[in-house]
Amino acid sequence: MPTGAPNVYDAEPIPEAARAEIERLLSSGDLFRYTAAADAPVALLEAEFAALMGTRYALAVSSCSAALFLALKALDLPKGAKVLIPAFTFAAVPSSVVHAECEPVLVEVGENYRVNMADFAAKLPGAGAVMISHMRGHTSDMDAIMALCDAAGIPVIEDAAHSLGTVWGGRNIGTIGKVGCFSFQSYKMLNAGEGGIMITDDPEIAARAIIMSGAYETNWKKHPGLSNSCAHWQNKLPLYNLRMQNLSAAVIRPQLPLVAERVEKGRANHDHVAARLNTSAHLEVPEPLGPEVRAPDSIQFNLVGGWTDEQALGFQAGTKARGVAVQVFGLSDGNARAFWNWQFLGDQPDLPQTRAMLMRACDVRLPTRLTEAELAYIADAIIDAATEVRG
Ligand SMILES: *Cc1c(COP(=O)(O)O)cnc(C)c1O
Repeated sequence: MPTGAPNVYDAEPIPEAARAEIERLLSSGDLFRYTAAADAPVALLEAEFAALMGTRYALAVSSCSAALFLALKALDLPKGAKVLIPAFTFAAVPSSVVHAECEPVLVEVGENYRVNMADFAAKLPGAGAVMISHMRGHTSDMDAIMALCDAAGIPVIEDAAHSLGTVWGGRNIGTIGKVGCFSFQSYKMLNAGEGGIMITDDPEIAARAIIMSGAYETNWKKHPGLSNSCAHWQNKLPLYNLRMQNLSAAVIRPQLPLVAERVEKGRANHDHVAARLNTSAHLEVPEPLGPEVRAPDSIQFNLVGGWTDEQALGFQAGTKARGVAVQVFGLSDGNARAFWNWQFLGDQPDLPQTRAMLMRACDVRLPTRLTEAELAYIADAIIDAATEVRG
């Protein structure tokens, strides 16, 4: 790597405050969330996360993918129900739909990374549910989506895996639909290696998800405020055992008070780099929709003004040579965010608009710990690589 190139690869370090609790758990062996009579780290995390988001219920699980799967199962959709998802998302999203024995319907996404509302409206009739991925925090028009879905009585699940801290029209992302799901995988705002959480205000959905996550026998009694609903569903639903264990919660909890600071720093980093990239005639950072205030830990931008695939590949290589490995979503090998790589879905209609976007949309991480000098290095490396190819 060239000298001066910042490390954008590593995740955020875990706060020192986590160590004492981890040591306590290791000494006692109390790793299972339902062993302690009360105040298990996972239960405390759920209470704290629900309070942070302003929702009634939270259920911590093994991953965001598990949360998305449980959310679909908790909606009790008929087998084979159609679930609309954006065609620009992570492979885990169509996978969760397949896992829940539903049928994903891919919706076009525009060059601003947001759902194409005309295509959404055209595909909505007859859908059993909608799962909206706020990819990298980019928020589609949630007002329009909710208006159409509410009118049709279709529930919305928000895949907010990578959007913790984003706000839409003054509301926390993940609290707008019926269910919101977040990830604690290392590259998300809160780093536990693996983990996820779902939030909802609906006691029936919460109770069903709790039982199916693996609250067997009467373990659901350790989830506050849901006794009637949980007692009703006990033994009537399968147990998928997707629980979170206490060590993960012990890693996450000390990071919760840092969210606000990480959001602010991430936003400043992003806007600083975005302003510089937008000075280049070859690059464009799309504008967010009006109501969105994002919490980014990465930046996405488009190669604009008629790039060929060969030029885009040359640019990708040029950034790598400068130590800032930019990925063009559709031109990096086997990218899990390019819908044509989701071969497990079988034959799908083409999505020309999303395809065109993915072939010119670039992605680079901007961890919140970066300094101003490192951000300047990244912006210059990207602009230089673009200028080298395009003159
Ligand atoms: C990371 C991510 C997921 C998957 O989260 P896991 O916790 O790894 O299962 C799903 N959707 C989006 C948009 C993501 O960024």
